[in-house]
Amino acid sequence: MRAAIIRAVEILSDPGDVVELRAIKNGSTAAGYFDDTGILSREAAKLDEQGFTVYITANPTNPALLSRAANRIKRPLKETTSDRDVLRRRWLLIDFDPVRPAGVSSTDKEKEAAFGRAREVYGDLRRRGWPEPVAADSGNGAHLLYAVDLPNDADSLGLVRRVLEALSFKFSDGRVTVDTSTSNAARIWKLYGTTARKGDSTEDRPHRPSRLLKVPEERVEVGREQLEALAASKPEPVRKGSQGLGTSEFDLEAWISGHGVPVRREGPWQQGGYRWVIEECPWNGHSDNSAYIVSFPGGAVAAGCHHDSCQGYGWRELREHYEPGACEHRYERNRYGPASAPAGQHGVLLSEIEPERVRWLWEGRIALGKLNLVDGDPGTGKSAAATDLAARVTAGKSWPDGTECRAGGVVILSAEDGLADTIRPRFDAAGGDPSKAVALSTVPDAEGNERQIALPNDLQVIEAAIERVGALLVVIDPLMAFTPGEINTHRDQDVRRMLAPVARMAERTGAAVVVVRHLNKATGGNALYRGGGSIGIVGAARSGLLIAKHPEDDGRRVLASIKSNLAAPAHSLVFGLSSTEGGAVRDRPRILGALPTSRTRRQHGELAAERPRGHRTELQPGSAPGGELNAHRRRFSRPHRGRAVGSGRTLSYRRRLELEPNRHRR
Ligand SMILES: [Zn+2]
Repeated sequence: MRAAIIRAVEILSDPGDVVELRAIKNGSTAAGYFDDTGILSREAAKLDEQGFTVYITANPTNPALLSRAANRIKRPLKETTSDRDVLRRRWLLIDFDPVRPAGVSSTDKEKEAAFGRAREVYGDLRRRGWPEPVAADSGNGAHLLYAVDLPNDADSLGLVRRVLEALSFKFSDGRVTVDTSTSNAARIWKLYGTTARKGDSTEDRPHRPSRLLKVPEERVEVGREQLEALAASKPEPVRKGSQGLGTSEFDLEAWISGHGVPVRREGPWQQGGYRWVIEECPWNGHSDNSAYIVSFPGGAVAAGCHHDSCQGYGWRELREHYEPGACEHRYERNRYGPASAPAGQHGVLLSEIEPERVRWLWEGRIALGKLNLVDGDPGTGKSAAATDLAARVTAGKSWPDGTECRAGGVVILSAEDGLADTIRPRFDAAGGDPSKAVALSTVPDAEGNERQIALPNDLQVIEAAIERVGALLVVIDPLMAFTPGEINTHRDQDVRRMLAPVARMAERTGAAVVVVRHLNKATGGNALYRGGGSIGIVGAARSGLLIAKHPEDDGRRVLASIKSNLAAPAHSLVFGLSSTEGGAVRDRPRILGALPTSRTRRQHGELAAERPRGHRTELQPGSAPGGELNAHRRRFSRPHRGRAVGSGRTLSYRRRLELEPNRHRR
């Protein structure tokens, strides 16, 4: 036993340090100060034999304290070490304690649970780049000791306390707790080699010796930034006024179970609070204890995920994820019952909001940082048009209407066209810079097999590609190919759940995300529902474009703005499809002319006048004859009074337009 004790003291302290040995039995304390490890170990072994539980101070104390009882034990010793007697903090002490009735030792099973939790924390901290800790068996549970070097001051106390609370937040539950009370500098700690004695030793709750399990070869300290980063992952109560949801009358627990939120562990949090650690964050699928919901003592609710990529998501987003529409419809719900918001100021003064101008990639048509939709019947050249637009971005070529295009990277998610035989030739033919385009379709799964990218789970793959080329444009073509099987595209909830993270990715990265969607074959029913899925898709997009066959010329296509939340709809463009020299590509779009739609002639004229002269060659307005223009004006801007409908497709335009009355800015 003495050898084990000497080793423990040598590991916990430096030669010459003065440490306090403290032993407790039935409420009486025996203690002394030691700078002689040999004598300390002898006294400690003696106390252990007498049935005391034996501790030492983990941090070095003021050497003057030696004079209180120099290398000997006094019982009782009136004055033991206080926090101000500690010179420096050398250890971050993490104690994993199995939950059990007070005053008894743990069962083997309880103890094993504590070890399992310690392993989990060890893995988590290692992933954070923390060095190897000292691992020990406390007799009843597990210890991890991380080397630190911090001054003994209020800052360090706060830091260590927050670190422990952050760990407890993530890892404590009804079976094992991470002790948050070990933050004080003068904390005494089990002296390894001595026995843990809680209550009487019985067969299933025996007294057991404590011991060191693993000691790293080198003492490597956890950096302050690493401690700060972990501490920062502890949720803080939200600012007053910013919490519109989750009030005292909201039954959070019922909501969590009612919506099937997968809870990994839960437990009380601070005085009167409660918190849940979620199996997987709903935004980026993080499953390492980083996602949480917490109810603060005051009744406020917060939620989030500690990962950087999930910053900005909170309770509102989490609730929307599991209960789509909850936040939007709150007003209606409250109308039927007593107001449930707590007293205080809610909402944000508009004066506090920085107005943000919509940033367009293509003025009026494709918005940066937003979801944009491109609809069209199969075979209308949507993919060819999307590739053409992508190519323009990589080369900074002007847009088909002559407006300037900012140069940047693009990410193309393509499921239906071959990269080598279709996309690359189209891209080259359109004059794109292939070194600025990333094509994505599949990713390797755990077994190394390629699987189709699925939204929103693989967003980080897309986001990495965006970063790789500094993408301004992401094309998802077609959306349905990247929709996982469990998403029912006819259910608004599912669609929102899938697209909301995509929209947020757009916002986060600033890239314009263009979602290509096939209109399905059915001609009956509402046209908006023809878009292969629920209307939620249209709702999620901030801008919608339609590519359709020219009503009077099968060889031509029309690109029309069908939805624009951010600007007056842009005028329609007519384009043709032409082959490239190799003949491999038959459908390279070439813009033939622009059609005014909802804008007045005068507005359109002004727009045309604004076009830079150098880009005029791109446009051949003369090739769209007046007859076509008029036909389009009838179909696209005055559908209600249009002539007799000749085909299902035309019908679909009409219905679409009827549902988008705002586009008629007359
Ligand atoms: Zn996350």
